[in-house]
Amino acid sequence: MASVLVVEDDQFVRSALIRQLTEASHTVRSVGTALEALREVAHFRFDVVILDLGLPDLDGSEALKMLRGITDVPVIIATARDDEAEIVRLLHAGADDYLVKPFSVDHLSARMAAVLRRSRAAGEPPPSRALRVGGLTVDPLRRQAELDGTPLDLTRREFDLLAFLAGRPGVVVPRKELLAEVWQQSYGDDQTIDVHLSWLRRKLGETAARPRYLHTLRGVGVKLEPPVETRP
Ligand code: CA
Repeated sequence: MASVLVVEDDQFVRSALIRQLTEASHTVRSVGTALEALREVAHFRFDVVILDLGLPDLDGSEALKMLRGITDVPVIIATARDDEAEIVRLLHAGADDYLVKPFSVDHLSARMAAVLRRSRAAGEPPPSRALRVGGLTVDPLRRQAELDGTPLDLTRREFDLLAFLAGRPGVVVPRKELLAEVWQQSYGDDQTIDVHLSWLRRKLGETAARPRYLHTLRGVGVKLEPPVETRP
């Protein structure tokens, strides 16, 4: 059970969300504008905020920036636009996850559960030793990663994915396991993993065609290992 703030100006979508979340025994408050949302998070503690991007008063990324200015509550973006560039920008701007409308309440619940597990786990002491794979260093405690001494600017999910793989260098991790461990989902489409892998690859300065660290084995899984040139 979680305390949820729904920020959505569409009456119909909003009441459907409230009804379904309440039925799933969450506590829900809702508003229709970004400014009201800011007032809400300033006055109440929420476990998660579901933020519609098409609000009447503020642009979604502006709303997110202002929210992030006053709280680190997990934010799930609800967008009608399946626009990769926009989504990447928002993940960098502090969104924890996103859903493209229309989405089912089951899908939303799964994403919420994953976000909540992560934010609750963040309060526990994480394993403290930095992982090293070739020129890659991943420090789960500080949530920092470096490649050949240069810090990598990763989204939360990219970091989780990299850290999970770096903890098992040379091991082919099945996609199912990645979904379960990194996304905390027992189902999902391969595209989710592929998209994040391709973002991660770009940041590692490699491509699927010319992999160095990240290797995709079609139909099997993914593995992270030191590039050939750094192996003894
Ligand atoms: Ca809207």
